[in-house]
This record gives sequence, structure tokens and C-alpha cells, in this order.
Amino acid sequence: MNNSAASKTPASAFVRRPQFWQVAKRCCQIAGTVDVAFFFLFHVLGSPLLAWVNVISVSMYILAYQALARRRNRLAIALIWTEVIVHATLGTLLIGWDSGFHYYLLMFIPALFLSMPLRGALAALVSLWAFYLTLDVVMWTGEPLQPISRDALLAVHLFNLSVVFAMFSYLSFFYLKTVSSAQRKLRQMAATDPLTGLFNRRHMLDLAEKELARFQRSRHPIGLLLLDIDHFKAINDSHGHELGDQVLVDVANAIKATLRSQDLIARWGGEEFLAILPDTDLAQAQASAERVRQALMQQRWCFDGQSVAVTISVGVSELQEDDGLKSAINRADRALYRCKDNGRNRVEVCPGSEVTV
Ligand code: GH3
Ligand code: MG
Ligand code: MG
Repeated sequence: MNNSAASKTPASAFVRRPQFWQVAKRCCQIAGTVDVAFFFLFHVLGSPLLAWVNVISVSMYILAYQALARRRNRLAIALIWTEVIVHATLGTLLIGWDSGFHYYLLMFIPALFLSMPLRGALAALVSLWAFYLTLDVVMWTGEPLQPISRDALLAVHLFNLSVVFAMFSYLSFFYLKTVSSAQRKLRQMAATDPLTGLFNRRHMLDLAEKELARFQRSRHPIGLLLLDIDHFKAINDSHGHELGDQVLVDVANAIKATLRSQDLIARWGGEEFLAILPDTDLAQAQASAERVRQALMQQRWCFDGQSVAVTISVGVSELQEDDGLKSAINRADRALYRCKDNGRNRVEVCPGSEVTV
């Protein structure tokens, strides 16, 4: 498969997922087991030729399974497809359309779209359609080459229908699981900062709006902390950007570990964090901010033998009646400026009555 073409096609990206190849291996096991069952079934039903076709089929599935285990995925797919096409065609030609062998060909329709870029899938789909119709017309006009009794045909028909039903259900279930997990990951990626794993600014704004609505209903106090690492530029300049990133991650973890699980914490800007503390008044928020500051002070900041001075300044505010989120954040920001003006590594409070925006 052409990688650049595949990247344009979301469905084909699916096969690059390791789970897809796990499912392919599982399908080989299931199909191989079904073919072992067919071997005995066709002996009992008096069609030895079809019985021995299943020995070849089982061998092909074993080879495909081994190819998948060695990550020779193209070879495995070629073996599986050849097996299904030849087996379904032979079964139909030998014992008739009513055997239901042709249903296996229909399983290619979703498989094509999942495993190929769109143009290739469409071309293969047209070929499959032409082949399927030709087989139908051939069987419509001709007789089966090796017919079996009516009861035996009914048994094969029901067996094939059931297997195809189960395979489609399994594929659909797998597809649903993959899509749900991709959606979950996308939602998580859209909501979090990739470096620190904290909420990103956009998601925090959404959460903050909900908290604001809750505050307006319940009037339970909500505290806000704006936390900014002191002289972070100097850390980058002296120890490198990579170490700076590590400091950001460790500071984020320390903030998270110190605050409560119900507190919302976001990476608000480069080296700035915002925390929203539900059911927390100004004094309690100030105490929380002090705990974070102390925790960072007590932490040993040593990376690859390099000792780094890491402290934080925290501006604190509380949501006021008829307040907007923006004004509460602005007050915390003013308090933060006050920290910086007063020498950093400190907590300052900006009472809400001071500012309105
Ligand atoms: P102050 O104490 O006044 O806050 O000073 P400061 O140096 O912390 O603040 P300043 O705004 O001057 O510098 C912030 C620095 O943070 C500059 C920028 O390069 C750095 N920064 C922003 N985002 C990242 C990041 O993701 N990783 C790293 N390593 N550095 C970052
Ligand atoms: Mg800073
Ligand atoms: Mg800053």
C-alpha cells in the first residue's frame, strides 16, 4: 500500500493499527477451524473433492498466520484473499449457488475499504462485483458439477450463513471498538496539553464555563490560582529547552499531586498554569496556593546531575457574584504581577472587589 495515498484515506489508516493485524490473526484461526470442520462435513456429505480442498485451505491459513506473526502482512493478505476467492468459487461451482459459499465473497466489501486507498478499493470492488455477478449467471444457467443431496445442501447452506453472520458481526464489533477508541483518543488529544498531560486552555475554558454556571446556581465559592514558574527563561537559557520541558512536566505533576482530585488544572500558557478550585473560598485557595509553593520549594530539582532552582509565584482570586470568568482570571493575573513585583516565589491575593472588567 502506498503510504502517502493511505494517509489521505482514513479507513485505510485502520490497517496500520496493530489491533487490525491481531484481528487478522484471529480470523485466520477461526477460518482455519471452520475449514477443519468442513473437511469432516464434506466427507460425511459425500463430497470428497471439497473435503480435500479444505486441507489446502487450512494450510493456507496456517501460512497466513505465520506470515502475520513475522509481520509479512502483504503475503498474509494475499494468501487469505486467494483462499477465500478460490474456496468460495469452487464450493459454488461444485455444489451450487444454494450452498451459500458465495456469501464469503461479500465479506470483501468492507475489507477492501479498510485495507486499501479509496481508488484501489473502488477498482477492486468493481472487479468483485463483476466476478460475483458472473458466478451468479453461470450457476443460474448451469448445473453444479458435483451436486449433493437436498438435505446435505441445506446443512451446508445453514452452516455457511451462520459462519458469514458470525464473521460480519465480529468485524463490525471490532470496527466499532476501534472507532470508539479512536474517538476517545481524539477527544483526549483535543482536551489536553501534549507535554504536561494537563487540560489545555480551550478545554479549561469549557470546563470553567460549566463551573461558572454551577456557581451562579449554587453560590458555592470557587477559587482561582494562576501559577507561573519564576525566571523560567533563565532555566531554559542555562540548561537547555529540553530540561526546561522536563521542569514543566515535573511542576505540572507537583501541582496535580498537591491539589485535590476535583480541582481543575490547565496549562494556561508557556510556563503558566490555571487551577479552578470548586467549593473553595479565597482564604482556602490561598492556603492551597501556599501548599503548592511549599511543595515545589521542598522538591529536589536535579536533572542529570544539574541542580536547578525552581520556584513558583501564585496569584489567587475568588469568583464574585455577577462575576465573569474573565474578570476573575484578570484579578488572579494582577495578583500574580504583584508576586513578581514583590520578589517572586510567593502567593498574593487580589480581593474581587478591586477589579471589574
Ligand atoms: P517571570 O519570573 O517574570 O515569570 O520570568 P520568566 O522567565 O519565567 O518569564 P518569561 O515570560 O520571560 O519567559 C517564559 C519562558 O518560557 C520563555 C519561553 O521560551 C519559555 N517557554 C514557553 N513555553 C515553553 C515550553 O513549552 N518549553 C520550554 N522549555 N520553554 C517554554
Ligand atoms: Mg515565569
Ligand atoms: Mg509567564
